[in-house]
Amino acid sequence: SDVVLRVEHLTKHYPIKSGLVGRSKRYVHALEDVSFELHRGETFAIVGESGCGKSTTGKCVLRLTEPTSGKVYLDGEDFTSLKGADLTRARQKMKLIFQDPYSSLNPRMTVADIIAEPIDIAHTYKTRAERDARVEEIMQAVGLDLVFKYRYPHEFSGGQRQRIGIARAIVLEPEIVICDEPVSALDVSVQAKVINLLEELQEKLGLSYVFISHDLSVVKHISDRVMVMYLGHEMELAETDELYDRPLHPYTQALLDVIPRIGHERIQDKKILQGDVPSPTNPPEGCCFHTRCSKCMRVCTEKVPELREVKPGHLCACHLFDEALSEAERELMPMG
Ligand code: SF4
Ligand code: MG
Repeated sequence: SDVVLRVEHLTKHYPIKSGLVGRSKRYVHALEDVSFELHRGETFAIVGESGCGKSTTGKCVLRLTEPTSGKVYLDGEDFTSLKGADLTRARQKMKLIFQDPYSSLNPRMTVADIIAEPIDIAHTYKTRAERDARVEEIMQAVGLDLVFKYRYPHEFSGGQRQRIGIARAIVLEPEIVICDEPVSALDVSVQAKVINLLEELQEKLGLSYVFISHDLSVVKHISDRVMVMYLGHEMELAETDELYDRPLHPYTQALLDVIPRIGHERIQDKKILQGDVPSPTNPPEGCCFHTRCSKCMRVCTEKVPELREVKPGHLCACHLFDEALSEAERELMPMG
């Protein structure tokens, strides 16, 4: 089918360890009921401020951390219930690229061995010569000169290290790559090159990407569809042009208001909205955005808005789009 990955009602709560006992046990609500589909060959972006649950979504999808509840289907197969050899096999279809590849590159391994590691673990190739040929092929595919084969990670620039990370992620020909802030640590000029490489590889290898980023300019450029997250919740989901041109959710509107018009200033350097993001250990009642929303109504402080398809393919979780509200529920509330 056209859907390579289906995520259903993914939820993650972490217990907080404290000296207190019994009923006072508290949880971090990292992820609340997140659902989306990834289509073959598509780039699906997840955006939001730091701590909104973007990376937790990626980790729970990959089961690097186990979700509290919810399902992940990979090629129609229930990935969440796989174990042992079946899990190992399925994991080869879905790989991760990190923000900082350096921290994940063994400093004592050569580039060739780092790239070959997934092959060596999976015993994909029968002979050493086949393995080495694959390493060279993939180095060329990501734009790494073969003279670098026997060098070590510290000898490379940030952009080159990310190429090594990408090479290792795609060496076993996955279907899906989850890119978690893949260019956020890089200089702007290098960012563009790595983005171009990702797009080129997608075209050539038919890859599907989940692209996690706080950078709305990068997301606008690379993605086909976008999901906006806040405090672990899915707030809005639409095709990229639709979301940027006609955002429906007050949170998305606020995010887009501060996209730098000129230059490449990073979003995270700016204060996006009035007030602080509430603590995920004690999320607000009702709509989790209501403490910062200028359109907050009485109902927003009481009921969690459900994710509705407001227009075909355009989903939004906001009471403004609930036509069944009573007059009392619509009463505007002062912010804070
Ligand atoms: Fe604002 Fe209410 Fe919509 Fe939440 S549900 S974004 S508080 S209007
Ligand atoms: Mg694309």
